[in-house]
Amino acid sequence: MHFSKEECLKFVNENDVRFIRLQFTDIYGSAKNIAITGKQLASAFENGVMFDGSAVPGFTGIEASDMFLFPDPTTFSIMPWRPQQGKVARIICDVKNPDGSQFEGDSRYILKRTLKKAQDLGYTFDVGPECEFFMFFNDDNGMPTTKTHDTAGYCDLAPIDLGENTRREICFVLEEMGYEIETSHHESAAGQHEIDFRYADALTAADNIVTFKMVVKIIAQRNGLHATFMPKPLPHVNGSGMHINMSLSKDGHNLFSADNKVDLSETAKFFTAGLLTHIKGITAFANPLVNSYKRLKSGYEAPVHIAWSHMNRSPLLRVPAPRGEGTRIELRSPDPSCNPYLTLALLLEAGMDGLNKRLSLMEPVNVNIYELTAEQEEKLQLDRLPSNLLFALEEMKKDPLIRATLGDHTFNKYLKAKTLEWEAYDSTIHAWELEKYLKPY
Ligand code: GLU
Ligand code: MG
Ligand code: MG
Repeated sequence: MHFSKEECLKFVNENDVRFIRLQFTDIYGSAKNIAITGKQLASAFENGVMFDGSAVPGFTGIEASDMFLFPDPTTFSIMPWRPQQGKVARIICDVKNPDGSQFEGDSRYILKRTLKKAQDLGYTFDVGPECEFFMFFNDDNGMPTTKTHDTAGYCDLAPIDLGENTRREICFVLEEMGYEIETSHHESAAGQHEIDFRYADALTAADNIVTFKMVVKIIAQRNGLHATFMPKPLPHVNGSGMHINMSLSKDGHNLFSADNKVDLSETAKFFTAGLLTHIKGITAFANPLVNSYKRLKSGYEAPVHIAWSHMNRSPLLRVPAPRGEGTRIELRSPDPSCNPYLTLALLLEAGMDGLNKRLSLMEPVNVNIYELTAEQEEKLQLDRLPSNLLFALEEMKKDPLIRATLGDHTFNKYLKAKTLEWEAYDSTIHAWELEKYLKPY
């Protein structure tokens, strides 16, 4: 809808909008919100709405906890699943300090800051995400399980089943919220789905991802299912990724398109080289959970090696078939548990670093990387993504681009929180260990 403040206020007045959810995200990219009544909206635009920053992960300490939400009117949207008499709308907000300055820990602000740099050079960063997720049954106590009655596979047509109907309902709700759904299909694993919406500028794309996850979870719940974006809920089947298709444009022209309509442009090659150079440190954000690394294993359509290719789905980066204005690169490592604002900011900075330094792009790898022997791998000099969260955090510390993009506040908070997460995992005795070792040793 892209309303102005005045249009929002008019719509709220004329359409019986009783509540407005002021939405923002924490350092992990999880949506949070505070509801105000429709009558409060004018004042929220003017003065912001105060909340307790010390209660939000990655925000402030208790000693400086008063923070303010300022609604961004262009993100106004009705929540179609809430009552339509006495409607509920949501607006995504910017987070500010009491003195009116931007809060450094607001992920959305961090992305905006990077986008401004790109914009000053005339670039628009377009992003098309592909979100995968599972839908499972809840148990008798309403707790999620990893069980599904769905036995379909990639692009299967199911008989009447909850998965299919729920996916359909999700698409309708998203359309009502202004999303242009391009495709939706059953993914490879039983209970796994994918819904792709049209690419957009990076800020809109990040906002869309956050809202998408919320809608999927809510509609699944209304159908008695639990939707999860956990990257690898089940062993021995594909996990859920969130491939990110990217291109850079200037004056409405896609800079990744080569004149001969076959190759990638020089700009696309520099950008890709930048991504490959910084991907190890970025992995701590694109793959933020202990569980994320269980997805990044050979044989499950998820990348392990730092390589690129044209059509091949085994490397980290692929160049999908469309050319001309549709030319794009697809990064296959991110998963849907990531904070999309931080991840997109880092990817754009990495790409721009490639452009600035005119980094040279390695040769494409057009074989199935999963089937390479150790000798072949060595001959091709292929590097690998970090194989667990601890290694990714070490890479994050080594790459100065990460701190420069995020700023000290978010860099330090994120590193501390994720180190604790790793330590908690590492010091837990898991069911697998007891099963494996208790009896024989
Ligand atoms: N589910 C796979 C992954 O974890 C991707 C499958 C596909 O190519 O869409 O990344
Ligand atoms: Mg897919
Ligand atoms: Mg894909």
